[in-house]
Formats: sequence, structure tokens, C-alpha cells
Amino acid sequence: MTTPTLDKTILVTGASSGIGEATVRELAAAGARLFIGARRSDRLAALADELGDNVAWRQLDVADGDSFEAFVAAAEARFGRVDVLVNNAGVMPLSRLDALKRDEWKRMIDVNVHGVLNGIAAVLPRFAAQGSGHVVNVASVAAHMVAPTAAVYCGTKYAVWAITEGLRMEHDDIRTTIISPGVVATELGEDITVPEIAEGLKQWRQKSLTPDAIARAIAYAIAQPDGVDVSEIIVRPAGGA
Ligand code: NDP
Repeated sequence: MTTPTLDKTILVTGASSGIGEATVRELAAAGARLFIGARRSDRLAALADELGDNVAWRQLDVADGDSFEAFVAAAEARFGRVDVLVNNAGVMPLSRLDALKRDEWKRMIDVNVHGVLNGIAAVLPRFAAQGSGHVVNVASVAAHMVAPTAAVYCGTKYAVWAITEGLRMEHDDIRTTIISPGVVATELGEDITVPEIAEGLKQWRQKSLTPDAIARAIAYAIAQPDGVDVSEIIVRPAGGA
């Protein structure tokens, strides 16, 4: 299925790899204007160079509210308005709770939860002023189930699910979408510090999607006409998790 032409300005976080990068490629091919962010600016610059003038970038740390505000302001300055925010950035350093990896817990909550809230805070006043907007939050199947070693990661994704649902209920004129991927082959989890859990993830990934499958789901939700709210899409590898 080809995504219909998108006359929209779309912001994508975590665009330097994986699902975010694939989403930028899918939306750019559909004619959208993209403003993309992540910490690794070399990768953003290379992607924008490759895709042309409709793709611009700025370094972004989603955990920092000021950085996110500057990112959205720069997008507005570049393209004149913001129509859609895709909160995709995330981290997944898995461990058992009794490993007491407090720094990793904090990083997951800072990026996966505060990162999404910082994005919502930056776009909400703009969406309220223009009377429209769309927030797409990348959660996970981990927003629907808990697994050992993933208690905190799942907690962050349950939070993303709840925050998105709350936003939907509070605003009739803002569309919201939760994207819940199953297992996708990306760099996610490369920061796992427990060797046997890192090895287990490799086994888990033997049946996985490629990121373009999630990109197409995001593009589908964005491409719907005004008034059609795709509240959640769950995409799994067939026969997998
Ligand atoms: P990747 O590791 O490939 O991508 C994660 C992205 O997040 C990178 O672009 C990274 O960029 C960015 N990021 C991390 N921390 C920050 C930060 N502080 N500020 C800005 N950007 C940041 O993994 P995926 O593509 O798989 O992950 C994308 C989303 O999909 C995540 O939210 C993840 O939880 C979710 N997901 C993934 C699944 C999978 O199986 N892969 C399954 C379900 C959900 P940089 O390091 O340059 O900042």
C-alpha cells in the first residue's frame, strides 16, 4: 500500500536509527515536510542530505524540556507550522529489579516518559492555537504485558499508553495515536549491561519485523482524513511477540 501524499509538517524524534529513521524515509517519500531530531547529529545530517530540502534536522535530547521546546520552535521557523509530532525516541537497558540499576531506571523514565511529556508540552499550546494537531506516541507490546527483566521498561510504556489515552480524552481537536510494535530488529537494547540478557534479546529477535513495517503503520495513522482518529495500532511479526 502506498501512503497518500501528505501535505503536512511532521516532527520525528529518535530519527537517527531504527523505527524513527524508517518513518522519516516513509513520510518523506509521501511528500511530507520532516523535522527530525536525536542526539547523534551526524546521522541526522546524513539522512537529511540524502532525502533533500523537505527534511531538516536539529540535535535533540528529549529528556531535556528546553531542548524539546527549541526543537519545535526551530521546526516552526523552518516550515511555518507543525502538524504532527511522532514521539519515537526510546531506550531499553533491561535488567532484573534486584540488580538495582537505578541509573538505568532513571534513564528509561527520563527518555521514555519525560521525553514524551516534554514533546506534548512543546506542541500542545501550538495545537490549541491552530485548533488541530496530531500526537503519535510509539509505545510497545510492552505497554500491554510485563516480562521479567523488563519491569521498568514496561512501566514506561504503560505510562506512554496512559498519557496518550488521557490526551485523547482531554482534546477533541487533537488526534492521538499509540503505535505498539512487537519485536523489531533495530539498535534498541544495545545498551543492555547484563550479558545474559543481551544474549537473550538476540534469541528473541530471531523472529522480528524490519522497521519499515512500523513506519507504514505510522504513515497510515497520519494519512487519515481530519476527524478520523486511529487510536492504537499493534504490529507484531506473524507468529512472534
Ligand atoms: P533504536 O535504538 O534504533 O532507536 C532509538 C532512537 O531513540 C535513536 O534514534 C536514538 O537516537 C533515540 N534516542 C535515545 N535517547 C534519546 C534522547 N535522550 N533524545 C533524543 N533521542 C534519543 O530503537 P528502535 O527504533 O527500536 O526504537 C524506537 C522506539 O520504538 C522506542 O520508543 C522503542 O521503545 C520502541 N519499540 C521498539 C521495539 C523493538 O523491538 N525495536 C518494540 C516496541 C517498541 P540517539 O541515540 O542518536 O539520540
